[in-house]
Amino acid sequence: AGGLHTDLEVKFPILDSAGAIVGVGAIATDITERKRAEESLAAATRELRASEQKFRTLVSNLPCAIYRSVFDGEWEDVFMSEAMEEITGYPATDFIANRVRSFMSIVHPDDRAMHDENVEAALTEGRPFELEYRVIHADGSIRWIYDKGRWVFGDDGEPSCFDGAIFDITDRKTAEQQIEHLAYHDKLTDLPNRALFIDRLRQAAAHATRHNQLLALHLLDLDNFKEVNDTLGHHVGDELLKGVGQRLSTMLRSTDTVAHLGGDEFAVVQTELKDATESTVVAERAMNALTDPFEIDGSRIHTAATLGVAIFPNDGSDAQELLKKADLALYAGKAKGRNTYQFFDQEMSVKLQTRKKIEADLRDALARGTDFVLHYQPLVSLETGGIIGVEALIRWLHPGQGTISPIDFIPVAETTGLIHSLGAWVLRTACNQAGEWHRAGWPVSVAINASAVQIHGGDFVSLVKQALESAQIEPRFLEVEITETVYLRTRDRVVGDTLRHLHELGVTLAVDDFGTGYGSLTYLRGFPISKVKIDRSFVQGIGKIPDDEAIVRAVVGLGRGLNVRTVAEGVETEEQLDFLKAEECDEAQGYYWSWPVEPEELTRLLKAQA
Ligand code: C2E
Ligand code: CA
Ligand code: CA
Repeated sequence: AGGLHTDLEVKFPILDSAGAIVGVGAIATDITERKRAEESLAAATRELRASEQKFRTLVSNLPCAIYRSVFDGEWEDVFMSEAMEEITGYPATDFIANRVRSFMSIVHPDDRAMHDENVEAALTEGRPFELEYRVIHADGSIRWIYDKGRWVFGDDGEPSCFDGAIFDITDRKTAEQQIEHLAYHDKLTDLPNRALFIDRLRQAAAHATRHNQLLALHLLDLDNFKEVNDTLGHHVGDELLKGVGQRLSTMLRSTDTVAHLGGDEFAVVQTELKDATESTVVAERAMNALTDPFEIDGSRIHTAATLGVAIFPNDGSDAQELLKKADLALYAGKAKGRNTYQFFDQEMSVKLQTRKKIEADLRDALARGTDFVLHYQPLVSLETGGIIGVEALIRWLHPGQGTISPIDFIPVAETTGLIHSLGAWVLRTACNQAGEWHRAGWPVSVAINASAVQIHGGDFVSLVKQALESAQIEPRFLEVEITETVYLRTRDRVVGDTLRHLHELGVTLAVDDFGTGYGSLTYLRGFPISKVKIDRSFVQGIGKIPDDEAIVRAVVGLGRGLNVRTVAEGVETEEQLDFLKAEECDEAQGYYWSWPVEPEELTRLLKAQA
């Protein structure tokens, strides 16, 4: 019948009363409902297959690997999508039931504990799990993954499994690491920059505190970087910084940090010291690392550095304080003469306070321009006994502190660069004064003291020309006194050029304080030096210390041989004078004749001898 499903399968015999079969009966059952059920089941199955297919396509198209794992003493994956192969290089099926390998076996050993801790925390704190960690790809490379998952709970409320998704974030991580590297490293030298350095210093200090150790902070500043940059160009300067960075890095242990703080300043954090004196090893190694010249663009560049060293926790209890102390030590080292290292000490700190005060006052004084005067000390010819020249010596009439000796403020002026304007003022004033004396009929020469910083400055020659022109004196009446340290820098082109130009101009060059440095007269041959001033410490040994007499005698003799005039400084006694005359020293100056005096007083002396 229409639309009805019947089933005739149930057949049975019809018996009469005697039990004989008289026919066959049949029961027709209506099975419509069952058929419908069967059909919908088939449809459902089809649908399920289709949706499973969809699910598979979906899962395999996802930009991540999906997994389900259970924990039963150890982790075991019950589902792992195919994308896992793309991320790890291993077929996803490898991981199912740990058939070939467990997922944990490819997690970076250093990240395993962190992974487990986080999974557990997700359970105890009832929150999703989220973590970035590393896995080792089949090709051996390290991949960064982002894993996000959650615990799934059964009807009994107990955790039954763990579902999650894994994303490959290697590219992002690499980019992030590059950006971080850029942010924390110096572009030029690729060394840690100031920010990272401070961070490392803090960590090192914390570590030292925990382990009851000391640490040393070395601040290192190149002595001649500005000159290299100015004379040979920024390119060479940059290469020098790179080279210095490399040499410093190679001399360190891996636990120590070398950083480029900017400019020509480097820093080294030396960790795990038991004794503060161990820091001298690194300080010396750092200085030694720079002694060999650098080959840059075919030229050999010599450099040296000054180091300031501070010890944690002795000198400072935090990074900031330690840096300040090391900086003070560096400042003191520079003032002391460079190419050396200097520890911070409290006494120094007090001295530096004075120094800083002098520096500030010096700036004010230079701005006012009225606190400085020149005193003049006569130079006497030992042949005639007459005044043939004067040496200009600066005096600072400090408004609150009276007269300050050049010995106390010239070094400060040198380290701060204030010497340039101060020295230019001395040059102009001395030339003008000489001009006045010349016009008054006394053709004396005037000697000025030039510091190394001025000679290195580059524009010294033009300053001299201007001063001579505006004072209208002949160049031969100007003498420039330099110390041995200046002319000994034979490698330095600027110094060589400056001295040569001055000589060509007709200016006299004299070596001051001769004998106190490392100079020997043979050095003089390479330079247009026409005078040597024998240091007063030797002159004062005359009649007392045979060695000093021998030195004076030798210098005078050699000067004669090299055609260099000799001047004895600091002559105070008749005995000294007689000795010098006997040795035929050319000139002398000292309290025996006169102190350095005001120009008016010197004018009186000139008048007196006329
Ligand atoms: P210096 O160039 O060796 O100057 C000679 C120093 O010896 C002067 O000290 C002078 O007063 C002192 N003196 C002169 N005769 C005698 C003597 O018979 N006995 C003793 N005991 N000392 C004598 P001053 O004026 O204190 O200058 C000290 C140093 O300061 C100078 O040593 C020089 O290096 C530096 N200086 C002075 N003026 C200037 C300047 O204008 N520029 C620069 N760059 N340095 C300067
Ligand atoms: Ca002098
Ligand atoms: Ca001198």
